[in-house]
Amino acid sequence: MNIVFIASESVPFVKTGGLADVIGSLPEALQAEGHRVQVFLPKYKSIPSHFQEQMHTVVKDEIKLGWRNQYCGVEALRHAGINYYFIDNLYYFGREGVYGYSDDIDEAERFIFFCKAILEMMPKLIMEPDVIHVHDWQTALIPLLIRNHYGNQPYYEKVKTVFTIHNLKYQGIFSNELVGDIIELPHDWFHAGGIEYYGKVNLLKGGIAYADAITTVSPTYAEEIQTPFFGEGLDGLLRTRKDQLSGIINGLSLLEYDTTTDPYLYKRYYDQEGKAINKKAVQEQLYLPVTDAPMITIISRLVEQKGLDLVIHVLDELLQEDIQFVVLGTGEHKYEHTLNEFAKRYPEKFHLHRTYNEELSRNLYAGSDFLLMPSLFEPCGLSQLIALRYGTIPIVRETGGLNDTILSFNEELNSGNGFTFKNYNAHDLLFTIRRALLFYHDKVKWAQIHTNARSSSVGWAKSATMYDELYQELVGKIKE
Ligand code: ADP
Repeated sequence: MNIVFIASESVPFVKTGGLADVIGSLPEALQAEGHRVQVFLPKYKSIPSHFQEQMHTVVKDEIKLGWRNQYCGVEALRHAGINYYFIDNLYYFGREGVYGYSDDIDEAERFIFFCKAILEMMPKLIMEPDVIHVHDWQTALIPLLIRNHYGNQPYYEKVKTVFTIHNLKYQGIFSNELVGDIIELPHDWFHAGGIEYYGKVNLLKGGIAYADAITTVSPTYAEEIQTPFFGEGLDGLLRTRKDQLSGIINGLSLLEYDTTTDPYLYKRYYDQEGKAINKKAVQEQLYLPVTDAPMITIISRLVEQKGLDLVIHVLDELLQEDIQFVVLGTGEHKYEHTLNEFAKRYPEKFHLHRTYNEELSRNLYAGSDFLLMPSLFEPCGLSQLIALRYGTIPIVRETGGLNDTILSFNEELNSGNGFTFKNYNAHDLLFTIRRALLFYHDKVKWAQIHTNARSSSVGWAKSATMYDELYQELVGKIKE
């Protein structure tokens, strides 16, 4: 099948979170299933110059956006067997950063332009796609635009759309002035069954309402978002579309995340001994004492979703143990500030690195003993998968994709690849960390947990087959 991916970020060009990892690795896995996948992205200023230099313009035109006409260039680049098309417009994407740099209408306009430009340009670039697969609110308007504006063009007549929700919390909610002006949607399309949301425009809602199939990134999250607690105000709509909704767990690129080849690591490794060398190097880099104390790490955006309130609640108590605790991440000021206070009070035990740093993140996955993810909710989570692959034992809360990928260690059966707890409760977290620390000091069990973690399947194979089956079902082809 001819499949088009449309997203706002992708490794190796631009990354702010897990979405970029997925867009950077799923197309290759689908190509291995026999499909042809092409990817559209914005041409951000922050894309590394060596990639920008390889791009060449394939078409240019003007895109009508309400009363404005905006320049649109499409630049192409082939990377790792995939064709990428970058939508070029300096006004919208030639700025610093990726998201949210000014008022909300401006942010909306950037991505509405992106969606419209792609639908205008695609017929000039590639053969009719069988499936257009869009991701998160930035591209969620596409299924609606196909229904409303483009569906009667022969090129788009047969196309099926898939919308994947990577995080329901971010919905792209904007003022309703957009509807007539920038989206140019007839007024009768603005209703509660579509993109209308309490008088405003909710772009993500359009994806849920109009895509032929909706997926999210784990089976547990697919269930959770149909309940009020996780539904972010859209659980009702999701329940009405539950027959079109499924959960497919994310995978990792096994080539990208490989401890025997990872170019960022101090020391590439196969086993525990190699890990110890990386741990020492990380301790030295972060000015922590070089000891055998278990190292617990968080690598994450510092936002409520990631369970930081639980961590902060028990951190004093936890830091009485013989441990080292490292946090790599940026985010909300209140978390950065509080964690920074801990770093000042416990300089020998607690380190906060307030940056986004790929190299340090890889070295932390390699050098740490535990990765902590006590998330309030977690659509899939990639960090725990990277941790498994790097032999770092996840301690997680049983929610979303964490629930689907991490099984708590059972000392009777010797099963399980991490440590888990159920309730969003700080003392359950503390208890679970203490339980994990007991096993750290039990050589035999610790080796067993490692074996279980490193043999967990974290690649795309199974999930790529599930996407393949979904696409086949949508376009009405039954696989042999
Ligand atoms: P989310 O997409 O909600 O941010 P995921 O666990 O799905 O969370 O993906 C996060 C990705 O971003 C992982 O690849 C993780 O290693 C990476 N990451 C998060 N924070 C940082 C950071 N400060 N520096 C480097 N990488 C980070």
